[in-house]
Amino acid sequence: MKKAENAAPCAPRLEQFRKTLKKRRIDIAIVRDQANVRALTGIDCDNALLAVCADGAAVFHTDFRYIPMAHRVAPWLETRDIKKFELRAFAKAAGIRAKGLRAGYESNMKVSQFEELKKKGPANAKYVDIYKDVLGIRAVKTEEEIEKLAAAAKLNDEIWKTARASFKPGMTEKDMARAIRHLMIDRGDGEAFDTIVCVGKNAAECHHVPDDTVWDGKEPVLVDMGVKLDGYCSDMTRNIVPRKGASAKYREVYEAVLAANLAAIAAARPGIGASALDKVARDVLAKRGLGKAFGHSLGHGVGLEIHEAPVVAQKSKAVLAEGMVHSIEPGVYLEGELGVRIEDLVLICKDGCRVLSHSEK
Ligand code: ZN
Ligand code: ZN
Repeated sequence: MKKAENAAPCAPRLEQFRKTLKKRRIDIAIVRDQANVRALTGIDCDNALLAVCADGAAVFHTDFRYIPMAHRVAPWLETRDIKKFELRAFAKAAGIRAKGLRAGYESNMKVSQFEELKKKGPANAKYVDIYKDVLGIRAVKTEEEIEKLAAAAKLNDEIWKTARASFKPGMTEKDMARAIRHLMIDRGDGEAFDTIVCVGKNAAECHHVPDDTVWDGKEPVLVDMGVKLDGYCSDMTRNIVPRKGASAKYREVYEAVLAANLAAIAAARPGIGASALDKVARDVLAKRGLGKAFGHSLGHGVGLEIHEAPVVAQKSKAVLAEGMVHSIEPGVYLEGELGVRIEDLVLICKDGCRVLSHSEK
C-alpha cells in the first residue's frame, strides 16, 4: 500500500479488498461500478475505472471533466486519464508478469467495456469475476456510512410525518407520491427509488405504481418510501389505518405483519443466518395461516444502492455481521382485497440490532 493511502478514510476497505484479491490469486482488479468505486475510494463518478494491484497501488482513472473533483475528494489517490488506460501497459508498469496474469473484473460491467479491457490485456490473461467480493465488503458499513444511513433514515421519518399530515381525502395516489417526492427533493437528495403509494386493495400488488385512484379517507393506505441523502439510501414502509374503514380482516392481517416484523427485529443479531432470520418472520405469518401470502423475501441490504448485500431471503447463504444495514419488511398480500407491509431499516450491532426507522407503526 502506498504511504499516502494509509491516511485515507477508505484505506481499511482497500486493504480488505487486496486481501481478497490475494486469496483468489488475482494480480490486479479493474473496478468500474459507480457504487463499488465510491465504496473503495470515496469518489462518486459515472466514468471511473479503479485499478487495484494486489501487491501495489490503487490508481483511479477518469476523464478530464472529473479529474479536479477526484483530486479534491481523494488527494491520496493517483488519478490518470481513463482514455489512456490499457491493462497490458498498466500491469507491466506495476511490475506484474503478463504471463498467467489473473485480472479481476465485475460481471455487471458493460459487455463493450469488458471486450475493450480484454483487447488491451495480455494474451492468455485469465479474467475472474470479483463483483460479489466487492458487494460483500460493502455489506459491512463503516462508521461514517452508518452515520449517513442513520441520517437518511431520520430524514425519511420526518418527511413521512410531514407528508402524512398533508394527506386529505380526495387526493390520488399520484398526488400523495408527488407530495413525498417534493419533500425529498426539498430536504434531501431526492428519492432513493420511486415512491409507492397504494390505496385500499391496490396494496395487494406489492410494487404497485401510483395511479389516479382517489383516497376516500377511510381506506387504508400503504406507503413505501426512501429519501437519498449524501449518496446513501433509506427505505421504510408504513400504512395509514383509519379508525373507521379498515375492516376486521385488515386489522387482523396488520397485527400479524407487525408481529412478524417485531419478531425479526428481536432476532436480528450477528451470527444469525439471513435465511434463519427470514424464517423467524415467515413462521409468525404461517402460524396465522398467512404464510402463502408473504411472497417476497424478508429484506435486503441498503447503502449507496437501495438493494445491495446482504440478501435476507429463504435461500440466502449470507450470515449477518455487525455493521450490516438491511431492511426487515414482512408483508401479506391478498389479491383483490388488501395488502400490508411494515418495513424498517436495522443496523446489526454487537448484541442485536438498532432500528434506524422511528416512525410509529
Ligand atoms: Zn421499501
Ligand atoms: Zn425495501
